[in-house]
Amino acid sequence: MPQKPKSHSERQYESSPFKDFYEKQKLEAKKRYDSKRGNSSERGYSSKWQQARKGYLAKHPLCSDCDKQGIVKGATEVHHTIKAKDNKEIFWDSSLWLALCHSCHSRRTARGE
Ligand SMILES: [Zn+2]
Repeated sequence: MPQKPKSHSERQYESSPFKDFYEKQKLEAKKRYDSKRGNSSERGYSSKWQQARKGYLAKHPLCSDCDKQGIVKGATEVHHTIKAKDNKEIFWDSSLWLALCHSCHSRRTARGE
């Protein structure tokens, strides 16, 4: 396969005195991305949680705290009414979850709930 000729900007990049700098930046960004992504089990957990959360919000589309005040607002977050910490049973028990809008969730989180 013949190599695709390099574009002007690519050639400029190759000869750029900042090339090393850019390469380093790219490497740093990748490192940050990898560490944020976590290990494979953390990734599995979060995708499972995203699924569960989506299903819960589909069944409970309104913010429960706003609802108590007679406000109709769509829920975007699932709050654990009991801190699950490392307890998987509590974490996955949807009877302990609460559908909240972003501001109500932030308020509860700020109160340490
Ligand atoms: Zn709310």
